[in-house]
Amino acid sequence: MNDVLVSLIKLQQIDIALDELESEDLKSAYNKIGFKLKENYRDLLEQERKSIIAKLDKHLLEQYEIMRKKYKNSVVVPVLNKGFCGGCFASIPSGLVSGRGGVKTCPNCGRFIYYR
Ligand SMILES: [Zn+2]
Repeated sequence: MNDVLVSLIKLQQIDIALDELESEDLKSAYNKIGFKLKENYRDLLEQERKSIIAKLDKHLLEQYEIMRKKYKNSVVVPVLNKGFCGGCFASIPSGLVSGRGGVKTCPNCGRFIYYR
């Protein structure tokens, strides 16, 4: 898999984890079972986020941020079995993802797409 794509997927996972840290539901669930997150967990996530961002193309990162506002946690999505976008379920032209070159996006919704 394309390195940039791997970075984008990681970035999305980190952003999801950071969101979860903010979630009151999660905090109260953790409190109930007496579970405490390590103090530096957020710092570690943010450090990792910074190092990923540093390697990403600015334009790509901008695109990611814009789509994250729109689609929340499904900005980088897999192409489903029969060639449908894992985000909007539009059909992806078969030549698009298999072709070489940079990161591909869904022609319908613009999400970053990849084959599992
Ligand atoms: Zn789509």
